[in-house]
Amino acid sequence: MDCLFCKIIDREIPGDIVYEDDQVLAFNDINPQAPTHILIVPKQHIATLNDIKEDDLALVGRLQYTAAKLASKQGFAEDGYRVVMNCNEQGGQTVYHIHMHLMGGRRFTWPAG
Ligand code: 5GP
Ligand code: ZN
Repeated sequence: MDCLFCKIIDREIPGDIVYEDDQVLAFNDINPQAPTHILIVPKQHIATLNDIKEDDLALVGRLQYTAAKLASKQGFAEDGYRVVMNCNEQGGQTVYHIHMHLMGGRRFTWPAG
């Protein structure tokens, strides 16, 4: 499949991988927006949040759970951090394989731009 994140999952292109299990892969974002910026992706290809089925709910929960675990491992769980999922063009999605951005190590403002 012609999908950038599937290719990273399949090791067809390199990724700076920080966590892996049977369902999830996490790797550093190539263009970090924070001192730590990790992308957490399901190994199953799902294009957008709109394509999530009821059968996928545990998997989506696992993305969130992995974000919290990695935040703890990175040492900023208590200070705080931000997770973001962009959906479709107006949401700022550029790679059409769902991913959770985990960003930490700086203060974030709200509402976001
Ligand atoms: P989106 O805009 O779809 O929410 O997020 C896509 C993210 O993927 C962006 O933050 C972008 O920097 C990152 N990205 C794009 N190409 C690559 C790549 O080849 N490797 C890695 N590690 N990240 C990428
Ligand atoms: Zn994919």
